[in-house]
Amino acid sequence: MATIDGLPPLREVLRTHDLVAKKSLGQNFLLDLNLTAKIARSAGDLTGADVLEIGPGPGGLTRGLLAEGARKVLAIEKDTRCLPALAEIAAAYPGRLEVINGDALEIDPLSHLTPPIKIAANLPYNVGTELLVRWLTPKDWPPFWESLTLMFQREVAERIVAKPGSNHYGRLAILAQWRAEAKIVMSLPPEAFTPAPKVHSAVVHLRALPAPRYPANAATLSRVVAAGFNQRRKMLRASLKGVAPDIEAKLEKAGIAPTERAEKVTLEQFCRLARIVDGQE
Ligand code: SAM
Repeated sequence: MATIDGLPPLREVLRTHDLVAKKSLGQNFLLDLNLTAKIARSAGDLTGADVLEIGPGPGGLTRGLLAEGARKVLAIEKDTRCLPALAEIAAAYPGRLEVINGDALEIDPLSHLTPPIKIAANLPYNVGTELLVRWLTPKDWPPFWESLTLMFQREVAERIVAKPGSNHYGRLAILAQWRAEAKIVMSLPPEAFTPAPKVHSAVVHLRALPAPRYPANAATLSRVVAAGFNQRRKMLRASLKGVAPDIEAKLEKAGIAPTERAEKVTLEQFCRLARIVDGQE
């Protein structure tokens, strides 16, 4: 069966290179090129942008990103078994695909990329959350990336976009929404993957805002939010006791009832509380 880029269908690629999915590497492949093209499109206009892809595997999403017009794709893959398949894609798109064999948690890709930079990935859940947190907490803002288009298990995606009062609302929501716009752009059933995972998945798109929605010191905000949600069933006057002296008065000044629980507190209120804790208000 012919494909849009003239490369073999992904099932054939898996067969040719004997790529049997490894559980230890969180390998659940996307083999439908229409689907990978759709995910690539959800990353927005790629023409003129460098795209960092983590975990390309046999290259379904990589092919989507290149076909959608990415200036360059830098793909970091841990599994050496995937390299021959990726080399075939690189040959079909001369000069536009660079592959680094290694662990994305240990490689600094910046010297290989030219702005504007977008990030797209279908990653194992644990690596994905860790990388997301790193990408959301750089030393300076705005970060090196313009947008993140990432596959997560559905429940993690819900945590990223959650609003106050929802069960999923917590540190990840605050972190993601303070300096980025986060939305779920696609939902995928387990059968979309080979092999099928146990859970549903979702693609989250995050766009970096030029500046935080509300001013606050990142470290203080993180400390306040961590303390609040570590004991999410407790009233804030108890869970935040160790964060600053006179926390009840500070909570009241921030417009938060000391008897409230963290899951009801808005991002704006958390930022105000962080400023008050820092003596800025
Ligand atoms: N992107 C491909 C797709 O959509 O079909 C593969 C997705 S699969 C869920 C995750 C990929 O990430 C695998 O190819 C796996 O080898 C790779 N991977 C796992 N841990 C990694 C790490 N720490 N650094 C780089 N790649 C990793």
